[in-house]
Amino acid sequence: MLNFAAAGGSKRYKNKNMTNRTFTMIKPDAMKNGHAGAILDRIIREGFKIVALKMTELSQAKAGEFYAVHKERPFYAELVTFMSSGPIIAAILEKDNAVAEFRNLIGATNPAQAAEGTIRKLFATSVGENAVHGSDSDENAEIEGNFFFSGLERSM
Ligand code: GDP
Repeated sequence: MLNFAAAGGSKRYKNKNMTNRTFTMIKPDAMKNGHAGAILDRIIREGFKIVALKMTELSQAKAGEFYAVHKERPFYAELVTFMSSGPIIAAILEKDNAVAEFRNLIGATNPAQAAEGTIRKLFATSVGENAVHGSDSDENAEIEGNFFFSGLERSM
């Protein structure tokens, strides 16, 4: 999660309707455990359209920037180390009510508390290594999408 201040100056991807988009990452644990394909398949089957996608790796600095809102939390260093420990897949997703629908699909932060059938229940291993990220608001979806995908020529 980022705050508005962190977004300054980045180019915006074009978007006809912001409220229909969210941002996700498949985190290093799910990548290492071979769940990326199953997670992407589930996302598509749930009716999300992938409008941007890339596999990449976060440096410690970039992971720290992305999660800057958690800087004061006791798990921040662990989170930054984990998120920069291997490849991730970043994607922008489109669906009506995308942010809320996607949060429902991924389930609670702690997989032990996530509802049956949710992505975190199925694929996460712990509260820290919890398989996927999902934006928590329309504003953060836009900021987080721009963090990975700036200056896209056209929306799809
Ligand atoms: P989210 O919106 O469900 O991802 O949850 P938060 O915004 O509260 O936390 C962001 C991320 O920090 C989570 O997805 C976890 O990867 C990590 N995290 C949250 N709480 C803890 C914790 O208690 N311990 C550890 N190690 N990581 C945590």
